Amino acid sequence: MALSFVIIGGGPGGHTAASHAAKLGADVTLIEREIVGGAANLWDCIPSKAMIATGSALNMIDKSEEMGLTDVKAHLDFDALRQRIVSIEDRLEHSVTSLLQSQGVRVLRGSGRMVGPHEVVADTAEGEITVHADAVLLATGSRPRIPEWAAPDGDRVLTTRDAYPPKELPDHLVVIGSGVTGVEFVSMFSSFGCAVTLIVSRQQVLPQKDPEVAAALETHFLDRGVRLYKGARAEGIERTDDGGVRILCDDGRVATGSHALLAIGSIPNSEGLGCDAAGVEVNAWGYLDNNHHLQTNVPHIYVAGDLSGRLPLSSVASMQGRKIAEHVMGLHTREHRHLDYDKAASAIFTEPEIADVGLAEADAFAEGRKIRVTKVPFSTTAKALINNAPRGFVKIVSDPATGVVLGGSIVGRHAAELISVIALAVTAGLNVEDIVDSLLVHPSLSEALAEAAD
Ligand SMILES: Cc1cc2nc3c(=O)[nH]c(=O)nc-3n(C[C@H](O)[C@H](O)[C@H](O)COP(=O)(O)OP(=O)(O)OC[C@H]3O[C@@H](n4cnc5c(N)ncnc54)[C@H](O)[C@@H]3O)c2cc1C
Repeated sequence: MALSFVIIGGGPGGHTAASHAAKLGADVTLIEREIVGGAANLWDCIPSKAMIATGSALNMIDKSEEMGLTDVKAHLDFDALRQRIVSIEDRLEHSVTSLLQSQGVRVLRGSGRMVGPHEVVADTAEGEITVHADAVLLATGSRPRIPEWAAPDGDRVLTTRDAYPPKELPDHLVVIGSGVTGVEFVSMFSSFGCAVTLIVSRQQVLPQKDPEVAAALETHFLDRGVRLYKGARAEGIERTDDGGVRILCDDGRVATGSHALLAIGSIPNSEGLGCDAAGVEVNAWGYLDNNHHLQTNVPHIYVAGDLSGRLPLSSVASMQGRKIAEHVMGLHTREHRHLDYDKAASAIFTEPEIADVGLAEADAFAEGRKIRVTKVPFSTTAKALINNAPRGFVKIVSDPATGVVLGGSIVGRHAAELISVIALAVTAGLNVEDIVDSLLVHPSLSEALAEAAD
């Protein structure tokens, strides 16, 4: 009889595991309470990037005269944008659901919970359905963190889930939090023509990133008139008499605007999953600790995605789902097949776009590690000039003794696509010469990569 694999949560971690395990011969049940595709498709990756794409189109229109076009004007139609987002989400949900159906995955619509180590209940509109599970995957994701000093109302005080798109275009948006999500919102709403203030708790936006990369983004924000409140922690939000908001900071400064947006991280969805009943330990932060096979303390119960407390990226969740399916089915358990989170590429879809992978220059410096760093600005690359996007650079970090590529960062248009070359080099242990020797297209932005590798 086929192994029964029950998955709770149909985001990238859950649905990828479902699909892959079904392909490998498991009898798979997927329980999802919102949409198959998950928060990633409904609130996070997809709507944010759809809005950012519209913002980029507006930015290009702003510069259209520089491309030899005159009288090009655009008006942002929020209803049309909303419909576009819904239609992209519908298409993605349809394609994932059809794939799962074609693979024989049973999809149950409802809330899932474990009632024992091998028993999972789905609370569906038709009633409770109990499924026996040889293996279980918990992939229920996370939700926006709301601090005790804020009370989001979906109107003027927003979480990231209220903002895709918001009911109205803010006159002046105050974004609280300058991590990846916060800066993407700043970039997007300033492209839409809104005044934006960003509250940055440290002295640098994107505190985890290479300072040079963060500085490039800050310069762009300042050019666009974004107000930065650096070294300030928000500790209160008040509604004003004129319907706006006041954000009170711990250093006494007060930021005012028409709307406030909280972008201060997320918390895991581990409540109500029946972890106690199944004997699964939940750590103090609400995540499920796991080993390199993503097994919890109960070996046949796995965890993927944001709930695993690893790198909170959709791409990572999918890859974890894939690895878990293989492990559940007894495949690919050799050491070198484990996920190496230090080699995950990531991108920030701001204007300019930012992407990085592997070892950062600043981290190598902090560790006292010898590295070679080469940097090429896009302003010397033909294709960047042709595209009218000469801002930004490519930076490659390599081992000075062996030439092995250890990491890289890219700032500039299409950075998220271009980083794949460096990501491949880092994952495969390629040498800078391997990049230099590739016969690349001319003119193309990848020429900057080859030049940086040289
Ligand atoms: C604003 C924003 C933008 C982002 N943009 C990107 C990006 O561009 N690229 C990127 O790689 N990452 C991005 N991320 C991160 C990414 O969204 C998450 O890392 C990813 O969604 C995690 O996937 P997951 O599999 O853990 O599940 P999720 O996508 O969180 O989905 C979990 C699913 O589980 C379901 N669920 C929860 N509890 C139950 C239950 N008890 N029973 C049944 N179903 C349940 C939920 O309904 C949901 O559908 C972004 C995050 C945010 C907040």
